[in-house]
Amino acid sequence: MAAIALTGLTKDYPGGVRALDGLELDVADGEFFALLGPSGCGKTTILRTIAGLEEATAGTVVIGGDDVTRLPPGRRDVAMVFQDYALFPHMTVTDNVAYPLRIRKVPTAERRGRAAETAGQLGLTKQLDRRPGQLSGGQQQRVALARAMACHPRVFLFDEPLSNLDARMRLEARTFLKRLQRELAVTTVFVTHDQAEALALADRIAVLSDGRVRQVGTPTEVFRRPANTFVASFIGSTPMNLLPGTVTAGARVLVGDAALPAPVGEIAPGTPVVYGIRPEYLRLTPTAGEDTVTGEITVVENLGSTQLLTLEGPAGTVQVVVPEDSEAAPGAPLHVVPRADRALLYRPDGDGELLTNCP
Ligand code: ADP
Ligand code: MG
Repeated sequence: MAAIALTGLTKDYPGGVRALDGLELDVADGEFFALLGPSGCGKTTILRTIAGLEEATAGTVVIGGDDVTRLPPGRRDVAMVFQDYALFPHMTVTDNVAYPLRIRKVPTAERRGRAAETAGQLGLTKQLDRRPGQLSGGQQQRVALARAMACHPRVFLFDEPLSNLDARMRLEARTFLKRLQRELAVTTVFVTHDQAEALALADRIAVLSDGRVRQVGTPTEVFRRPANTFVASFIGSTPMNLLPGTVTAGARVLVGDAALPAPVGEIAPGTPVVYGIRPEYLRLTPTAGEDTVTGEITVVENLGSTQLLTLEGPAGTVQVVVPEDSEAAPGAPLHVVPRADRALLYRPDGDGELLTNCP
């Protein structure tokens, strides 16, 4: 087991692409740490640089107190699971799982025993003599996990390991992976572009864009108090409403024709802000008032136990999550009230940073 420290990590690819720009990250010993961000933000590059599959242009990679920046992959004591699993199609499950042990010259009998044991831990005992082509997607994924576990690495690196599974399998594999990581307590860096996966699995999450860290925090922290509008719109099953407004007297923000209660703190009246409120924290009300957002329903999306309504009005486009039996219909007028203790204020310019110390 080992902590990971990335310091000033920069990666330039040939052709002038700067994938990482002075990245700083600390992963604690035994932690399940997620790297979350849109495609192309540098997640795979970070993992490959930790693994030693890419050489850092500048900066250092420290694992368990050892500077491994210039060490080859085989001497870093990390195991990576790739998005496409990278199994050997002509080898059996046993031989795939035992492969890293073979590279390390572990004697045949011992490595077959360890491979069978690890595969057994992952419920693959009946599949030991099969080849990857004879396995389901979920089983292939577990073979890749078993191969990573077999040589007892200090660190697991997972690059979107669930993205090739169908929706149902993905949920099962997610729970399985979380339980496994808890049991093994091996430091894990898990890459995903799926915010729900990061929130569900991780002890802490780093949200990235354009090779930069935009926020690091627990799932609760990044969900409750996104540090900027990028994180606010990236985290959550529906993006946060981010509405342009102006601070007015009485600790309110004027958004369209609504004066909404907000944690304005010391911000002077007249200051332009972005008023952030999650669709889950707006509630329906039968009548319009000073602190209601009013508009016309333009879209109704059924999400199962809830509905997502899109509303157009003086405040702009606003999304609201309501119970599935709301009887909302396109074209109808709607009034909603924000939960004041869940409102967040952001800068309208720059990096859109959070302005107030909201609870
Ligand atoms: P992610 O995994 O978040 O999708 P990547 O780390 O794969 O992002 O890529 C980050 C950036 O680096 C992207 O702009 C991508 O096009 C670029 N990139 C990745 N690999 C290479 C490469 N081998 N050569 C040149 N550019 C690359
Ligand atoms: Mg990637």
